[in-house]
Amino acid sequence: MYVVFLLILRSYFNGMKRIFCIFLVALFLIVGSLDVFAWGQRGHDIIASIAEKHLTRKAKKNLNAILGGRSLVYYSSWMDNVQNSPYWKDGYDQTKTWHYFNVDEEYTPQTMSRNPKGDVLSALNMVIDSLENHRSELPDSVCFDYTRMLIHLVGDMHCPMHVGRLSDRGGNELKIKWFKQSTNLHTLWDSKLIESVHSWSYTEWQQNLDRCKKSEVAQMTSGTIEDWLNETWQVTVGIYEYITPDENYSYKYMFDYGPVVERQLLLAGYRLAALLNRIFG
Ligand SMILES: [Zn+2]
Repeated sequence: MYVVFLLILRSYFNGMKRIFCIFLVALFLIVGSLDVFAWGQRGHDIIASIAEKHLTRKAKKNLNAILGGRSLVYYSSWMDNVQNSPYWKDGYDQTKTWHYFNVDEEYTPQTMSRNPKGDVLSALNMVIDSLENHRSELPDSVCFDYTRMLIHLVGDMHCPMHVGRLSDRGGNELKIKWFKQSTNLHTLWDSKLIESVHSWSYTEWQQNLDRCKKSEVAQMTSGTIEDWLNETWQVTVGIYEYITPDENYSYKYMFDYGPVVERQLLLAGYRLAALLNRIFG
């Protein structure tokens, strides 16, 4: 996107035809609106940062070897970036649908027909099974990829608009206003709500959210991957019931849904740690 922006600037200063500048501005706006992939980077960083604090010693040591000494946070958005990389895209094209699980209005996650290209549930089950039961047979590069995917996908599964409706592409086509600025429901939940609720860094988010008792963490990490998807879907159903297209939302929405976004981040962080401890601990 920044390349396009630089091109605009350069053509402006080079005195190129106005029509070309207008074309580039339009391209810039279109590229800028293609924010359809996941929690924004902040959300994924918060989740990875919380998980990192709850790893067992052994899991930490094994992960350190697999991730080449990098942290979970370092790779939390890798899966979003890789699918858009001009260098790596080809190898990861098949992962484009792995970030979400759409459920239309009249369906549940159990009755909705599954995407034959894969979804967040099938992708998570695949990487967990591979890492947990077949790790010794995996080439190092695949083990590295699957671990980075696991870190990211547990986050996506807890992002309500990644269990949104197929009919509006997970809220991407449901236009609303956020503090009078045009946006859509997907972007609101990926990033704008997080940014509005607290202007914290990911470490400040971790420090301020991650204060649950052991018994609470145990309760939050119980259940299966399928149960967790269902829970997110139930949150999503409430979000759709609340929203009116083209309406402006601001402080009231923030106060009603701030605690919900906080809980989703916390659940994802604790559950990611629980999975990593089970696999690598
Ligand atoms: Zn994603």
